[in-house]
Amino acid sequence: LERTLSIIKPDAVEKNHAGAILARLEAEGFTVKAMKRIHLTRNEAEGFYEEHRGRGFFDELCAFMSRSPIIVLALEREDAVARYREVIGATDPGKAAEGTIRKLYGASVGENAAHGSDKTSTAAREIAYFFAGYEVS
Ligand code: ATP
Repeated sequence: LERTLSIIKPDAVEKNHAGAILARLEAEGFTVKAMKRIHLTRNEAEGFYEEHRGRGFFDELCAFMSRSPIIVLALEREDAVARYREVIGATDPGKAAEGTIRKLYGASVGENAAHGSDKTSTAAREIAYFFAGYEVS
């Protein structure tokens, strides 16, 4: 089994869509190995998205991610990284497939409801960014 980091982003938490998104992920076969609700500081958001520093949307992205609380999850299933990315859909909700989480709950490329690790190697680093070893069962 593989793990991935999932973030239910501020827009989705603000709109009370977190429960629906979590239920969908469980229905898709993901098991919650760790979960918490946190309000990132601007610095913590910048640290998480360090690889995007210098890109045009970096400031907007970090302001958005630190605007209000997020829910962070470590999820496990077979082929978790790729399957999770299928379930959330394309980065731009307008281009995401019907029925995907970003199509259902995202508003724009910036406010797109969910984050997922892009590959297995980044998943381990992303999970370790948010959870201490004892918090992940
Ligand atoms: P994520 O890493 O959140 O799963 P992704 O891998 O689909 O998203 P990336 O290209 O890695 O997309 O971009 C990271 C995040 O930055 C996106 O989820 C989105 O919220 C934001 N982003 C990307 N492009 C733009 C843009 N042009 N304007 C505003 N925000 C953007």
